[in-house]
Amino acid sequence: MSKEKFAGVKGMNDMLPADAAVWQTLQQTAVGVLERYGYQEIRTPILENTKVFTRGVGEVTDIVEKEMYSFTDSMNGDQLTLRPECTSAVVRSVNEHSLLYGATQRLWYCGPMFRHERPQRGRYRQFHQLGAEALGMEGPDIDAEMIMMLARIWKELGVGDVRLELNTLGALPERQAHREALIKYFEGNQDVLDEDARRRLYTNPLRILDTKNPEMQELVNAAPRLLDFLGEESRAFLARMEQLVSAAGIEYVINPRLVRGLDYYNHTVFEWITDKLGAQGTICGGGRYDPLIEMLGGRPAPGVGFAMGMERVIELMRECGRVPVRTQTDVYVIHSGGDTQVQAMLLAEALRDAGVRVMVHPGKSGFKSQMKKADASGARFAVFAAEDELAAGTVSVKALREGEKSYAEQTALPLAGAAAAIAAALAA
Ligand code: ATP
Ligand code: MG
Repeated sequence: MSKEKFAGVKGMNDMLPADAAVWQTLQQTAVGVLERYGYQEIRTPILENTKVFTRGVGEVTDIVEKEMYSFTDSMNGDQLTLRPECTSAVVRSVNEHSLLYGATQRLWYCGPMFRHERPQRGRYRQFHQLGAEALGMEGPDIDAEMIMMLARIWKELGVGDVRLELNTLGALPERQAHREALIKYFEGNQDVLDEDARRRLYTNPLRILDTKNPEMQELVNAAPRLLDFLGEESRAFLARMEQLVSAAGIEYVINPRLVRGLDYYNHTVFEWITDKLGAQGTICGGGRYDPLIEMLGGRPAPGVGFAMGMERVIELMRECGRVPVRTQTDVYVIHSGGDTQVQAMLLAEALRDAGVRVMVHPGKSGFKSQMKKADASGARFAVFAAEDELAAGTVSVKALREGEKSYAEQTALPLAGAAAAIAAALAA
């Protein structure tokens, strides 16, 4: 038989056991913070009907134009898409289950998203987002609170110096006036526009401001600014949000080029950026999307949300030396098969009753090889269930690491009290 090697799909990563602790720390820390602000979990399927995203993300976006994994269900002809983001899916679900009837919702989600992009550092085809949506609340207080919540998450993760950029997209009529000015401005500079920009000139000129093409930076920097088209209400919304964010001691800069580029995004947009990750430095993006709920078939209600890229945040945690070390087990039980294995497994159960992480040596091997395994497991204590000791109603314990206060010498313990004694020594 020829040996065929199987590889994962390009741009889609395995999370290996060595990385589990950092992923869990990120999720537990973030969720711990979210819960302190009243956010509850929602889980939606990874597959949605394609139109949830063509509608919910917008036809003239990178995501819908070129990044979606869409296919026809061969069983029934349904047009389906692997979710490229979760806001549309959450809104679809909230509408479907009438969660906004006479209520507001503060929701968080966490899971894989799929975009057909060119894989590179910080950019994958399957990646993970942890995000939140605050639905049914007009802001700007809730927008500011969301920013405070994120600042707290960065602080608790120990990745302190991420930069906050804020902007406003105002309201629709203001954007329309700005859009006309933009089109005029770019029409007068056709020769500098790249292909993407020319394609977007009449469909989504705002998005041109978001270009990463260095040859267009000068042009884009001098483009008409939406800030100059804002009416009173939009200016007051932004001012109040800035006041609240400043009062919380959070630093930010207003970046007039920060856009979302879709007609139904309004008022608040923000990004959190780090200089430690090279080109893919945006670890989190968010904003207000008041018209979206109605666009996805719900009764009109406002909304604001964010999504962080977990792979990028984890890389930042690594850069900041914030990777938790977690061993596989606290106790490793060594035995010599037969009845001693029965006793070993029962003692392990008693330890687990006391909340201790325990591994019992599997199968039967020599003492030396079991000690090697015990050491490699990272356990703090080895427990020996040996025949002669068990016959005397005892087991013995020995610390495996330098500096351990209890059981530095191998110590016999009465079998009956062994689990409690070991658990106490671990907790001390
Ligand atoms: P970018 O400009 O980097 O493509 P985006 O505007 O497409 O980002 P959003 O749709 O706002 O990103 O997604 C929110 C966050 O999810 C991003 O700030 C980023 O941290 C993360 N993210 C987006 N796409 C990817 C990807 N392909 N791989 C890893 N993380 C991603
Ligand atoms: Mg993108």
